[in-house]
Amino acid sequence: MKCTVCGSKKMFKVSVFDADSPIRSYACADCGHVDFYVAQEIIEDYKKSEQASKEIDKKAAADKKKIDAIIAEIQKYENIVSDENQTVKAVNAAREKIIELREELVKLEEDSEEE
Ligand SMILES: [Zn+2]
Repeated sequence: MKCTVCGSKKMFKVSVFDADSPIRSYACADCGHVDFYVAQEIIEDYKKSEQASKEIDKKAAADKKKIDAIIAEIQKYENIVSDENQTVKAVNAAREKIIELREELVKLEEDSEEE
């Protein structure tokens, strides 16, 4: 271990405490600078919470992709509904499909709001 201020290699352990746990700390025998290190479990907790928030972001991005795809599909069926050259049968089928897709969209949006 090297002092981060003067570069001396003469570091010794000193006791420093925060509110609930000891902090690994080393003082420089030459300049008195103190280096602090948190406990490994605090580092592990940090990594875990970082990983969890990455997974939430990933899920949100996937949901957004699905929502965009459904919106694009609804648009496609709306074009069929507003096309005068379509048959009544095709327009009715498109209307049904739009209702189904809108229900799916509402479900997806509710799911992504729950997180
Ligand atoms: Zn030093």
